[in-house]
Amino acid sequence: MNEEYRQQDIPTEFHSYATGAPFSHCIECDRSLENMEYFIEKAIRTYPGYDATDVIFELAICIQCAEAVRKSMSEDSQLKIAEYMQANADASRQIYVINEYPDSPDKWTANCLITGKSKNAVSEYQIYAHCHGDQLIPDIMPYMISGSVLDELSQLLSNKTLGEMDNFMGRHFGPPSLEKDLPRHRTILV
Ligand SMILES: [Zn+2]
Repeated sequence: MNEEYRQQDIPTEFHSYATGAPFSHCIECDRSLENMEYFIEKAIRTYPGYDATDVIFELAICIQCAEAVRKSMSEDSQLKIAEYMQANADASRQIYVINEYPDSPDKWTANCLITGKSKNAVSEYQIYAHCHGDQLIPDIMPYMISGSVLDELSQLLSNKTLGEMDNFMGRHFGPPSLEKDLPRHRTILV
């Protein structure tokens, strides 16, 4: 890890809702995350006007598996996502917020990386963190992306990539159903 960054525990927002504890294993290969570099992703539904939220899905994935998922996406999709992020993500604001408020992790994910909209103003959002063992790797992550942006991103993806994403979601969270109401065609690891 880069020495210029201070060590940061993983904020509780990024703990597993299912277990109440930090994520311990990779969703894909089931390897222990104790000494591993990995990503956390959680999708949350909000009810504007109410405090209640639901976790739609959550996962931790080791860097090797994340890389394999990325490679399963078509090159065209990878390029389009990279271009979209390059053009639209406010990386400098995000890094500023993380550095300026090192003790307020809630601020890091308070606003959409792309639109700047606050969590309270969106009906769905996803949060992402980059970790090593029980510590955060602070770079542009952690960040939050609102559901409308994820919908826009999924419009950019090829059918091959959408199929791969659906396979991944189906493998780990079951087939899409009305009850579970999993968002379809969701990009993991934006
Ligand atoms: Zn893995």
